[in-house]
Amino acid sequence: MNSRDVIILGGGLAGLVAGIYLVNSGANVCLIEKDSYPRHRVCGEYLSNEVKPYLEFLGLDLEHISAPQLSRMKFSTQKGNMLECKLGLGGIGISRYTLDHLLYQKFLEGGGKIIQTTAENCKFQEDTFIVHCKDGQTLEANFVLGAYGKRSNLDKSLKRSFINRKSAWMGVKAHYENKDFPNDLVALHNFQGGYCGLSKTDLGTVNVCYLATYESFQKYGNIKTYENKVLSRNPFLKDFFQNSTMVFENPLSIAQISFENKELVEDHIIMIGDAAGLIHPLSGNGMAMAIRSAKLASEALLEFKLDPKDQERIELKYTNSWRNNFRTRINTGRILQKVLMHEKLSNFSQSFVHKVPGLLPKIIKLTHGKEMHV
Ligand SMILES: Cc1cc2nc3c(=O)[nH]c(=O)nc-3n(C[C@H](O)[C@H](O)[C@H](O)COP(=O)(O)OP(=O)(O)OC[C@H]3O[C@@H](n4cnc5c(N)ncnc54)[C@H](O)[C@@H]3O)c2cc1C
Repeated sequence: MNSRDVIILGGGLAGLVAGIYLVNSGANVCLIEKDSYPRHRVCGEYLSNEVKPYLEFLGLDLEHISAPQLSRMKFSTQKGNMLECKLGLGGIGISRYTLDHLLYQKFLEGGGKIIQTTAENCKFQEDTFIVHCKDGQTLEANFVLGAYGKRSNLDKSLKRSFINRKSAWMGVKAHYENKDFPNDLVALHNFQGGYCGLSKTDLGTVNVCYLATYESFQKYGNIKTYENKVLSRNPFLKDFFQNSTMVFENPLSIAQISFENKELVEDHIIMIGDAAGLIHPLSGNGMAMAIRSAKLASEALLEFKLDPKDQERIELKYTNSWRNNFRTRINTGRILQKVLMHEKLSNFSQSFVHKVPGLLPKIIKLTHGKEMHV
């Protein structure tokens, strides 16, 4: 069996970004991804500008994609009281359909290998990782990065502690045609049981993505009725749904989204992206965190020259830098989500923030990082 330097489990943002950096640095990398490219995913598709310099360093030509620059934010309460502010660093509206595909192509161009199958389990035995795949292949490597997202069969096989606890959250997303939606705007509208983000994408569509409690959804049983009866109580969402046409045949949805703390290393597998921890989506920073955590993990591997003898030092280096970079953001995201989900608290905070100019951009800044340079 051919042993590689690194196997990456999952080819979303974190997996592909780590893969590109590692292959460009001369590592022998194999990435296992169960789905094909390009494809849409449940995501708000607001990509913070903090990661733009790094993506350009990896060779992504973002200037040639007509991704709108998102520079202002509007937030409305359930009843439709509106607050607006400029976004300090801002971001771009880029569909995952485009972004993941660009990264996938860069990874292949650099000499990375992708196997399209599901990784069924991964074991660390006698200082080597053995990965068994659904298609019958068995792969071997000195290091493994777990980049398989929020929830996966791999969490079950690793017996991760969060996996058996039910999570209350679900996510829904679809693209819409709406000619009046401004190019530079991220709108965040609160509704009973969740919140919904809207922004334009490089595909010319408006991405509509919301997070909702399963409890609030359950009573209505299907997405259309839920949107009509619950989301549309917010006047801005009502107006949007009435004046827009869905481009997707059906919305995409995911269930059981967990925001619990996760172990950063499991059986010596170094977790990156959502597999390491997910920030509440209202912050619009999950993609940036996935990309930054991929950078931290690949830098730790390369600092120790991919030497298996340094496995534990690499793990320590990574976990320390992950905590330093993300702890504050994740905690701020948790507090903001609690406030937003409590109607009275959300109304009160909105009027308070309204009276203190400059406060909202400062709060947003706490959920983001500094620009990422090499
Ligand atoms: C409702 C919602 C809205 C959001 N909005 C935003 C936003 O506007 N801005 C933002 O920055 N972030 C947002 N996020 C967060 C963002 O989507 C994630 O943080 C980001 O996608 C994490 O990337 P990842 O690479 O860790 O995981 P993913 O992109 O989920 O990739 C994981 C990959 O692993 C693959 N995989 C899983 N299991 C296996 C297996 N066993 N074998 C092989 N492959 C496997 C999957 O197919 C997938 O391709 C949002 C999240 C939610 C839930």
